[in-house]
Amino acid sequence: MKRLPFIAGNWKMNKTVEEALDLVRSLKASLKDIKDVEVAIAPPFTALHPVSQELKGSSIHLAGQNLFWEEKGAFTGEISPVMLKEINCRYAIIGHSERRQFFGETDETVNRRIRAALNQGLRVIFCVGETLQEREKGINFLVVERQIEGGLKDLGEKAIQSLVIAYEPVWAIGTGKTATPQQAEEVHQFIRQKMRFLYSPKIAENLRIQYGGSVTPENIKSLMDQEDIDGALVGGASLNADSFSRIVRFKEM
Ligand code: PEP
Repeated sequence: MKRLPFIAGNWKMNKTVEEALDLVRSLKASLKDIKDVEVAIAPPFTALHPVSQELKGSSIHLAGQNLFWEEKGAFTGEISPVMLKEINCRYAIIGHSERRQFFGETDETVNRRIRAALNQGLRVIFCVGETLQEREKGINFLVVERQIEGGLKDLGEKAIQSLVIAYEPVWAIGTGKTATPQQAEEVHQFIRQKMRFLYSPKIAENLRIQYGGSVTPENIKSLMDQEDIDGALVGGASLNADSFSRIVRFKEM
């Protein structure tokens, strides 16, 4: 069985509303014939609603970059899963390393966010990955294993079907250093094996695992050629319509 490739663009804290609309219009035009790859973009919160309007009738999906686990209430600065659903977000990115590194995100808070998102019918792009120090110590598999066990705690088989895992080695994010296809593939294999053990062979087989970390039009093909790499979570190269479209069109290379 071949899983449907999934390419998602994480715009992080970039693009005003006007810039976001420009980019999304260009993407709609350059990707309108794409059928065999799922595509999603994650603009900053201020641009989500206008981008959602612009995406009506397009096959490009919308994603939030984060969310909080409560539905509503006195949580200044937070966004709830219900709010993301209302404006047609299909996905939420949860546990991105920048959230873990700069905003105190832990496996436990990642787990609460994932559960809240799935309960509200959102799909989740769950990010895991080791730092350079952890890789150099040889504990990268252990770290990823701990993140998966913590992040997915108490989640049943049904919920897992709406989950995508993004393996993003922190040392490769925004640094121009990509993991080699072999380095990425061995961790993707490990993640699939772990999911087989935690859930079932069927869940593991159907699970899409994206690679993230300095993905470009130049390196996407060799990454996607790997058996267990099913897509990419793209940061920097998703901010430009030409480079993101070329990544989505990796099959044409
Ligand atoms: C990311 O932050 O998810 C990411 C992969 O960024 P970049 O592509 O810029 O390394």
